[in-house]
Amino acid sequence: MSNTRSLTDLEQTDAFLRRHIGPDDAEQQSMLETLGVESLDALISETVPNSILRKDLLNLPGPRTEAEALGYLKGVASKNQIFTSCIGMGYHGTLTPNVILRNVLENPGWYTAYTPYQPEIAQGRLEALLNFQQLSIDLTGMELASASLLDEATAAAEAMALAKRQAKSKSNLFFIDHDCHPQTISVVRTRAEAFGFEVVLDDVRKLGEYEVFGALFQYPNTWGEITDLKPLIDAVHAQNGLACIAADLLSLVLLTPPGELGADVVFGSAQRFGVPMGYGGPHAAYFATRDAYKRAMPGRIIGVSVDTRGNRALRMALQTREQHIRREKANSNICTAQVLLANIASFYAVYHGPEGLKTIAERVHRLTAILASGLEGKGFKRQNEHFFDTLTLDVGGRAGEIVERARAARINLRLVDETTLGVSLDETSSRATVEQLLAVFAGDGQASDIEALDRQVSAAAIGIPEALRRQSAFLTHPVFNSYHSETEMLRYIKSLENKDLALNHAMIPLGSCTMKLNATAEMIPITWPEFGQLHPFAPLAQAEGYKVMIDELEAALREITGFDAICMQPNSGAQGEYAGLLAIRKFHESNGDEHRNVCLIPTSAHGTNPASAMMASMRVVLVSCDDNGNVDIADLKQKAEDNADNLSCLMITYPSTHGVYEEGIREICQIIHQHGGQVYMDGANLNAQVGLTRPADIGADVSHMNLHKTFCIPHGGGGPGMGPIGVKAHLAPYVANHPVVPLDGPDPENGAVSAAPWGSASILPISWTYVALMGAEGLRRATEVAILNANYLAKRLGQAYPVLYSGRNGRVAHECIIDIRPLKAASGITEEDVAKRLMDFGFHAPTMSFPVPGTLMIEPTESESKAELDRFIDAMLTIRGEISRVEQGEWTVEQSPPHNAPHTLADITGEWDRPYSRQEAVFPQSWVAANKFWPSVNRIDNVYGDRNLFCACPPIEAYEA
Ligand SMILES: *Cc1c(COP(=O)(O)O)cnc(C)c1O
Repeated sequence: MSNTRSLTDLEQTDAFLRRHIGPDDAEQQSMLETLGVESLDALISETVPNSILRKDLLNLPGPRTEAEALGYLKGVASKNQIFTSCIGMGYHGTLTPNVILRNVLENPGWYTAYTPYQPEIAQGRLEALLNFQQLSIDLTGMELASASLLDEATAAAEAMALAKRQAKSKSNLFFIDHDCHPQTISVVRTRAEAFGFEVVLDDVRKLGEYEVFGALFQYPNTWGEITDLKPLIDAVHAQNGLACIAADLLSLVLLTPPGELGADVVFGSAQRFGVPMGYGGPHAAYFATRDAYKRAMPGRIIGVSVDTRGNRALRMALQTREQHIRREKANSNICTAQVLLANIASFYAVYHGPEGLKTIAERVHRLTAILASGLEGKGFKRQNEHFFDTLTLDVGGRAGEIVERARAARINLRLVDETTLGVSLDETSSRATVEQLLAVFAGDGQASDIEALDRQVSAAAIGIPEALRRQSAFLTHPVFNSYHSETEMLRYIKSLENKDLALNHAMIPLGSCTMKLNATAEMIPITWPEFGQLHPFAPLAQAEGYKVMIDELEAALREITGFDAICMQPNSGAQGEYAGLLAIRKFHESNGDEHRNVCLIPTSAHGTNPASAMMASMRVVLVSCDDNGNVDIADLKQKAEDNADNLSCLMITYPSTHGVYEEGIREICQIIHQHGGQVYMDGANLNAQVGLTRPADIGADVSHMNLHKTFCIPHGGGGPGMGPIGVKAHLAPYVANHPVVPLDGPDPENGAVSAAPWGSASILPISWTYVALMGAEGLRRATEVAILNANYLAKRLGQAYPVLYSGRNGRVAHECIIDIRPLKAASGITEEDVAKRLMDFGFHAPTMSFPVPGTLMIEPTESESKAELDRFIDAMLTIRGEISRVEQGEWTVEQSPPHNAPHTLADITGEWDRPYSRQEAVFPQSWVAANKFWPSVNRIDNVYGDRNLFCACPPIEAYEA
């Protein structure tokens, strides 16, 4: 045994950095040689503008090993106290079926996938989402549902916006029933103010006194009352307005669905379908409406189409209508949503089936009825006459005392005021819960006879009004009636997983999306009960662990970005944009500059930028880019001057989505400031800044951080995400606050932008762990290697495909765009053909046609090894060779492999009359066979799917056919 290695050296073997970074030192060296630069440092100084490149390391703790970081975080988490939550208010205890917990939530096959823009390799999650839509349709009684929104409160705001677009009424007034959840009211008000709608908050009995374009009711309402919606909906319709209903999904198992009562939009949270409360999220919201409003829907719709063999195949319907793609014409700015959580909710319904759900809902209701009866017997007056799972009680000045007793029994009640308490039961409640609650309320030490109470309530059938008991069947489709044993369920989940390509199969080089490693160590804490089981409105004293973790993450993000304050509320990058623009708006207003409403946006911007600007009622003025892809500074200057009096802000992405570090970025920020504007930096590309420069130092006033890009939260097939914003001190008072849990810092008058105070708090441990494992040096190295990998790809692919833009010294940033247009002109092979052909090699296509139509934007991230990059390059060069053969007339376009891609097993086992071999079709390189991914369908017909829009599970006959 040799003793040449030092102990310190031996201890390094557990360093996380080398696990996160794909290429090892030797590979990095070889790539640097290809680029003709000496060192990583040299590459960086050739690439990043000198005026913004920082020399110092960030001041951050770490790096820690995986064991150290998780050990520390476990200690932090254990400061959270898990009480039985009876708070209700839209968040309920639930039991995540273990088969779903382990095989979906904890499974990289599900959580590392991307939004299903390439449907041929995403049929699994598309089916799960279609099930989610069917579930939403069945339980609400509506005609059409979309795939998922961010949370119930933002879904309410989207419903209001839909009502405004679709209602015949010319009114500018929106009615909100004051018995809705407070967080919903707050988020809707914030949105209404941004849109310039007026809002009235009142008792539903006063509805007739107003003329409204829409109204929001909650069913059952925040106090648990179940009101007959029919007369209210009729009254809204009489005014030519639309009726929007927030409904509890589980209650709809037993209640007449709002669709049968005439509702126009029905939405709510799907949290209690198996998704832990997680101190506020992430959870999916569902959203259902009339068929007539399908083109006004926010978010994504999954539709049924056919592939080139005529087989059934799923895709995102009306994809060119996808919200952010329509830019300022978008219905909303939804991009990242909550796909993983929607999938979990749909699996929950598949697993339990209609009978299982009925059992759960009836049990919850029966226990609530027993509790109601017991409390009545003990002299407590119930304020809601009817109920599903929630009771609001008049406790005559004893609220404080009862809440204290409840805490001693580790139960949280909803404390409304000194005389009023709320109590909600859920799937996790039992007889014991009811016994405990009765003892807590009475405080007389007397045990209750649950059996006797049960006999009473069964006889009296109290709770749900006779006329509002659900009669209609639901979830009759076979998918909800076939997988109730664990074996069947396990195999159903696996069969869907097998159809999807995720990061556990190959690199997903999606430009602008930063599909980097989502390390297992980072994922482990999110399913710890200490993080999962907390209600977002639990007393702060019970959430100390969350406070420590969030404070530490905020401190790290402040250091990384240079901002003075962080607002953790937005649940996606796009929501961050909206929240940031609102802060800018309020800042201008506070200076008496209400008129400042012009938002400058370069043409290279992501579509969410103009969509968010529209939501903040800003006027979008586009700024052109020059031939090198940079913002045209002369044009920017001109437009800033022309609009100087009304300039609100600039929205700029840095490095730009053209994949270059613009040298003029400081000057750009100065021009905006000189004209009285603020700089909003879209932080989607922060992965190219961390450790090398900082948004606030460059000149940004506010910026969002897509924690699901740069900070390792997995994309979950299209969500969850987190889009906290960093702001400079002058904007800090103007960021979102929360009506239920007031936050330190922002003005208490500020409304909320999300339902929960810290957004999707339970996924923040992922980003916390990433920062802890990497440390300052590691974070900087990650950025450097991301740049190295991108430049290596650009250099090697550049021989075959023109790289559209590059910066100083011909370098790209952390991503690059290759131009397919000249090849298309010469050969007829399209960018889509290239994207689909990549599937035959087992790769996911890069981002297609964004930000420039006819191009592919490639972002390898620091996590991909040289070997994987070389395979990708190999695949791209092979495809280039195929394009050449078409150019040279050897193949017609129609006969060529790219045109016929992806190739399926059905292709090569059926008749074969192509001029290339089956081998070339499915094993186009020798290495493909060793890890073959088989697309489960052929190329999907987009036009057919949009012409024959069908967004529910196909009828049973379709299965038989
Ligand atoms: C991803 C992205 C967004 C939107 O972020 P979401 O989290 O998906 O809402 C905005 N701008 C750019 C440049 C992006 O890449």
